[in-house]
Amino acid sequence: MVYYQKVARTGWLVLCLVVIILTFTLWMYPTLLDFPLSFGNAAYLLALIILFQFDNVRRGGIYYTFQEGIILFIFLNYGLLPSILLSQIGILIFQFFSHKQEIRLKRFLYLYPINVLFDLFYLACPSLVYLALGGPIGTGFTYSEALVPFSGYLATVLTVSYVQCRFVNRVLFLRYDWTRLVRLQTLVYGISMLSAFLGIWFYDENPLIAASVSTLILFLFKRLLQQRGMTLEAMENAKRFDDAKEHLLISRFEREAIDSLLLDLPHLLDFSEGWISIQQQRKQVIYNIRTKTIIDVLPLFHSLSAEQLQTPIIHGLRFDWGKDIQIALPVDRHSMLAIPSITSEDVDVSIVLFHQVADAYDETNADELARLLRIFCRVLHRSQETYQLYAESRTDALTELANSRAFYEEGAHQFAADHYPLSIILFDIDHFKYVNDTYGHKVGDLVLRELGRRILSLQQKQPAMFAARYGGEEFVLLIHHCPQNQAIDLAEQVRHAVLDRPFVVEGHRLSITISLGVDTVNQPYERSFEESLRQADHALYVGGKHNGRNCTAHYANL
Ligand code: GH3
Ligand code: MG
Ligand code: MG
Repeated sequence: MVYYQKVARTGWLVLCLVVIILTFTLWMYPTLLDFPLSFGNAAYLLALIILFQFDNVRRGGIYYTFQEGIILFIFLNYGLLPSILLSQIGILIFQFFSHKQEIRLKRFLYLYPINVLFDLFYLACPSLVYLALGGPIGTGFTYSEALVPFSGYLATVLTVSYVQCRFVNRVLFLRYDWTRLVRLQTLVYGISMLSAFLGIWFYDENPLIAASVSTLILFLFKRLLQQRGMTLEAMENAKRFDDAKEHLLISRFEREAIDSLLLDLPHLLDFSEGWISIQQQRKQVIYNIRTKTIIDVLPLFHSLSAEQLQTPIIHGLRFDWGKDIQIALPVDRHSMLAIPSITSEDVDVSIVLFHQVADAYDETNADELARLLRIFCRVLHRSQETYQLYAESRTDALTELANSRAFYEEGAHQFAADHYPLSIILFDIDHFKYVNDTYGHKVGDLVLRELGRRILSLQQKQPAMFAARYGGEEFVLLIHHCPQNQAIDLAEQVRHAVLDRPFVVEGHRLSITISLGVDTVNQPYERSFEESLRQADHALYVGGKHNGRNCTAHYANL
């Protein structure tokens, strides 16, 4: 900001200097002040200029008012001074009407001198070239005589455009593409010249009718350009946003939804830096959208009131930013689009984008982004429910261990991945029917639950182990990177976890034992998951149950 303050100060100083020089010149040569326009006509022309200050066409971050055509008409009919004077009034009015109230004063302080000086430049240079080449003015105007001077006029406009582009890119760190600017200026001035020429055709009738004709033609062109730009851009944008919404809607889980949004955002809107904060049940995660990495804090939005949080923040130039935007970004970041808070169900999302291109974002962008984020919130909330259902469908309700369905999925996954050696430990409670028959089914259930708890606590100490209730009173463990000896040791640990401490259930102290069968697959394709499971089962019954129970048997040792 300090830099831009310095630029603004210099701008105002230069403007003062120019005003002093101009005043001095006019004072020295008062004949220059002979204004060939009556007050009434000047007022009418000014009204036409004002008409052009609304509904500006915005291309590549530059506003086009199309007042150039009417100014050119004034120059050709009344000379340089009236055209400069009326154009300056036009700029002052533009400054007022084209910006929102919050940024109006800032834009005026920072940009007005630069705009005024460039407008002077834009008018004076081509007009002086035109006059120097003998271009006719006023009643003496003829098309044939104006043709060559006009070529000089147009060439100067393009040169000035190029110089202006280089100047603002260097001094204000804007990113105007000069080829695009020159192309657009050719279009704008081409249309302006055409409308001025056609207007002059009617000059003999009445100068004001001629000016009106000129204005009408310009206005039609401006509308045409606006509509074309709007429909093309809007259609493309809407399609991209629709696609992103579709991607979100088909994502089932939280991760999928977040990844889909992070992937799509850079294609929806251009930005140099972007962050998104996703808050769910007091857990806040902030992503850098470009790098897709998580950051700690976003130093923004802290000073916004609840009401301010509801409205998007759009800034087009660095000097529009308020004091509440305290973020360390390079001096050439101009545009900012922030949606401070979108809330739906228990999800709250905020997003902020910055861009080097000036005036990169508008209300439509903000609306579309807000709509997308609202869908994102809903999808995220739904994905939590889906995940809960998914998790429930894979968990055994009694023991809270994974169920056999989850076990089969995990087994297929582990056997397909290169996590060998893989060991399976299958175990079954000894004489469980007796427990049920003696103490009742409910006690049997509580024994199973306590066993589940003991297995879970073992699993917490063994990250490579996946435990599941296989069915009834049978349980299974799948351990990756686990050779035969280690698997036998682990099976013994499990056996002791059951054996060493009696199960205290509803006042009964029950001594429970289990029999275990183990199988190990050392390398891929040695045995399938199902075959290994069959071998563990075989070991359990042949080496465990038939061997007196309360023991561990490895298939390889049968
Ligand atoms: P073995 O040592 O040969 O395994 O004898 P067992 O009595 O444990 O074997 P059996 O297969 O004959 O009996 C298993 C019993 O486990 C039968 C069934 O009622 C009981 N059971 C299976 N699932 C549950 C359950 O969820 N809750 C209760 N309480 N009992 C269950
Ligand atoms: Mg049993
Ligand atoms: Mg059994």
